[in-house]
Amino acid sequence: MSFGIDDLPVRDELRGKSPYGAPQLDVPVRLNTNENPYPLPEPLVERITERVREAARHLNRYPDRDAVELRTRLAEYLTKTSGYEVGVANVWAANGSNEVIQQLLQTFGGPGRSAIGFEPSYSMHGLIARGTGTGWFSGPRNDDFTIDLAAAERAIAEHRPDVVFVTTPNNPTGNAVSRETVLALYEAAQAAKPSMVVVDEAYIEFSHGDSLLSLIDGRPNLVVSRTMSKAFGAAGLRLGYLAAHPAVVDAVQLVRLPYHLSAVTQATALAALEHTDTLLGYVEQLKTERDRLVEELRATGYEVTESDANFVQFGRFEDSHEIWRKILDRGVLVRDNGVPGWLRVTAGTPAENDAFLDAVRELKKEQS
Ligand code: PMP
Repeated sequence: MSFGIDDLPVRDELRGKSPYGAPQLDVPVRLNTNENPYPLPEPLVERITERVREAARHLNRYPDRDAVELRTRLAEYLTKTSGYEVGVANVWAANGSNEVIQQLLQTFGGPGRSAIGFEPSYSMHGLIARGTGTGWFSGPRNDDFTIDLAAAERAIAEHRPDVVFVTTPNNPTGNAVSRETVLALYEAAQAAKPSMVVVDEAYIEFSHGDSLLSLIDGRPNLVVSRTMSKAFGAAGLRLGYLAAHPAVVDAVQLVRLPYHLSAVTQATALAALEHTDTLLGYVEQLKTERDRLVEELRATGYEVTESDANFVQFGRFEDSHEIWRKILDRGVLVRDNGVPGWLRVTAGTPAENDAFLDAVRELKKEQS
């Protein structure tokens, strides 16, 4: 028997657990991790190269620990796209929104504290909670994957969590959460005990509706988290950020590692922010493709959850894993998130989506 994890003195709560593991398979059409299918445009690649070359000249020094220029540009982006004015003091950035979430849980969760999410939702909220020693509660959803508000309010009152996650648009289901529901959850969370509400807007640029960013106004316990991984087509960059009351930005600095955002990351993100208009143009194409996927899947006889994201949840299947495998056999990788009866497909290029639609149409024929 070889030496393994269980032979090490790892923390009890990590024993027997699996790491986050979306398969990274070498398949012609990969529509499984909600990535943007469009490579960065060449003028942006040039600009990144220029900015990184300049940063390289100073790599003997630590980067700007507070990433002030980057946070200023992110604040401008948020203000421009939401119409709600935020400044550098409202914005914090880290290596992907996963790190933002980790920093929030290190600050507001931790041993003896707890967090809640309404599942199925983004599995990393619960996994990062565990990694930071934060207790985790799974709140309910309705059969159509909307949040069951009355049940959610009861769960908050019962568990009195320190952190409440609301993902909108939600992953993996795709549906958005209304402003009224988020406000009601915020009120419930404050009534139970002063707790932080984290609105995870990783996919908001793809939504038919607006960002809930302005909810931070007058609500210091509300945080909106964002990422450049999806709309900006820069998953490889690892840049996430949050907008909140300046006190929240001060608080997360208590746990962030010094110089956590490398100078190369900051330079690359700044270059991408100079090309926001082009990148958001791709978002419009992806929204059209997402709507086409919804329509065509329904026309083929599948059930589809309303989607405000760059992916679509479709079903229903008796054995979703078997269908996942059959789609993979046809050269298309989608995602089995373990939601019984459902699978998730990310909107790709028109050609990739055609390949996916051909595969699922074929399967439908086989089944009938
Ligand atoms: N939030 C949600 C809802 C997500 O789906 C993801 C990525 N799949 C993230 C956060 C993390 O994204 P990143 O760390 O790349 O910013």
